[in-house]
Amino acid sequence: MTATTAKETLGFQAETKQLLHLMVHSLYSNKEIFLRELISNASDAADKLRFVALANPELYEGETELKVWVNFDQAAGTLTIRDNGIGMTRDEAIKNLGTIARSGTAEFIKTLTGDKAKDSKLIGQFGVGFYSAFIVADRVVVRTRKAGVPADQGVRWTSNGEGSYDIEVITKTQHGTEVELHLKEEEKDILNDWHLRHIISKYSDHITLPVVMHKIKTIDKDEENSSADAQATEEETVNRATALWTLPKQEISDEQYQELYKHISHDFENPLTWSHNKVEGKLEYASLLYIPARAPFDMWSSGKPKGLKLYVQRVFIMDDSDQFLPNYLRFVRGIIDSNDLPLNISREILQSNKVVDSMRNAVVKRVLTMLEDLAKDQPEKYKTFWQQFGQVLKEGPAEDFANREQIAKLLCFASTHLDTASQEVTLENYISRMPEGQDKIYYVAAETFNAAKNSPHLEIFRKKGIEVLLLSDRVDEWLMSHMTEFAGKKFQSVAKGGLELGALDDKAEVAEQEQLTSELQPLLDRIKQILAEQIKEVRITRRLTNSPACIVAGEHDMTPQMERLMRAAGQTVPHNKPILELNPEHMMVQKLSTEIDETRFADWVKILFDQAVLAEGGQLEDPAVFVQRLNKLLLELSN
Ligand code: ADP
Ligand code: MG
Repeated sequence: MTATTAKETLGFQAETKQLLHLMVHSLYSNKEIFLRELISNASDAADKLRFVALANPELYEGETELKVWVNFDQAAGTLTIRDNGIGMTRDEAIKNLGTIARSGTAEFIKTLTGDKAKDSKLIGQFGVGFYSAFIVADRVVVRTRKAGVPADQGVRWTSNGEGSYDIEVITKTQHGTEVELHLKEEEKDILNDWHLRHIISKYSDHITLPVVMHKIKTIDKDEENSSADAQATEEETVNRATALWTLPKQEISDEQYQELYKHISHDFENPLTWSHNKVEGKLEYASLLYIPARAPFDMWSSGKPKGLKLYVQRVFIMDDSDQFLPNYLRFVRGIIDSNDLPLNISREILQSNKVVDSMRNAVVKRVLTMLEDLAKDQPEKYKTFWQQFGQVLKEGPAEDFANREQIAKLLCFASTHLDTASQEVTLENYISRMPEGQDKIYYVAAETFNAAKNSPHLEIFRKKGIEVLLLSDRVDEWLMSHMTEFAGKKFQSVAKGGLELGALDDKAEVAEQEQLTSELQPLLDRIKQILAEQIKEVRITRRLTNSPACIVAGEHDMTPQMERLMRAAGQTVPHNKPILELNPEHMMVQKLSTEIDETRFADWVKILFDQAVLAEGGQLEDPAVFVQRLNKLLLELSN
């Protein structure tokens, strides 16, 4: 049946080799997953064929019943998983089975520790799919032919999983893929009917594709007369083979939900939580949405697939259909199955479709509610969620104006309350601790947590015991520029505008400051002259208790931190001159007011300003000059 042509031997991509080796050793304790992976691939291949055949039914080549067959041969020591799905061309086999196409593989390999327990978790997260065959097999033969291409363009791919594989062109009459595993001696006990059925129902019940095996020969007296041959070839479906999401929730076990998740997400770990809904009425659809327990390695790379698997009336249409989710929910995985969309829908049509829009709105609400419930009912799991995806969710208020308030409730921050870098404070927590009279939510944003925590702008807040949110994620300034208030309380950067403590302010202190300002006006004028190029204004502040000076942004200006971020992102932003604020209690400022030597005065002022820029996290225009000035003054002082 199969005529072969020239055989070629090709090497695995270096990373594939490394991964193969690691996987075989670290996933050993969980070896039966290979069957799930191969059946999952067959199911994907069937979905793909069904989809392309919508437009071109000839691709079925007369076989519209798509299935996967699991057969074994004890004498030969082989287990075969065969499907009549889409199949592969020679080039596809090389690309799909010889390389790991996913981005970030090299990065992934670097994170492996050599510790088996840890690595098996990591590998699980990466998803190794096809290669898991080599956990139990020492030789794997794949015969495949793409649906729609001539029979003589079949391919045989053979490898022992050690460095290289052979590939040759064969004739294969049936389209689809057959994976033949030559089991390692010690793995042959898997070739047992009951055992295989058990694994299949455990891992593949949720797969809609029928998984077919030969009927078990029963030694049944009544059937003694029937032909043994006929019995041996009789087939039966061994998995449930229904679309799980169409069943009532109470009929679905947690394990089944988890297995379906692993199938669609290519993740080996269980999800954190999920939400399954069926909607009837004007729109009819089912959605099954999962929150993964761990961010994929490539979450931040732009080519990263995202979105939901789209089905229309139980027919798989496409993977990664991102129209149903905004960007800030790109970590959500799941399925959406619509009864209203046409079967021939394309990505382009999805983009401007009213049905899609309303489904998307509903999906977003579901996800936000699911997260709210998780935060309320399973705070430990929510913490995990936040560590993994908090930064992504923080993009939400900018992207999704309509749901801003609901997203804001889900946000977690570090604050001066705990004074640690871990983000655990919600806005509701913050408000519940506000003393009477406080009407703003204060925050400071800086490059690093320590820069935020030790920011001079916080000094007065610490002294008065007012909590301040400490923001140091890259996305934070962007987030805050889209949040004006929460629960009626306005957000206020402590590095912006004048110090406004509202009712928390001490009248006597304010009066004293006004008094000081007028007394020190000549000093302020002198300073302004020297720093005319650099600053917008100089003024006396009560913000500081330990530091001599700080810089703040004007009420309506971007903070310096925001300016830096925008520039780093390649934007051109005008430079806003900051305001220099002085602490009149500080020795350095007091000394300054008595300095008569103009040169030395100018040096002091410039040093003060540069220090304030540094403390805020900025960079000096001319650091060398700063060092020279400082050294000069230090020497003068020590004389
Ligand atoms: P994944 O399923 O996550 O893409 P796998 O390692 O399981 O990764 O499979 C790699 C690729 O090989 C698949 O994406 C698919 O293109 C191809 N492939 C594997 N098995 C089959 C199959 N039975 N039929 C067609 N293509 C397959
Ligand atoms: Mg796979």
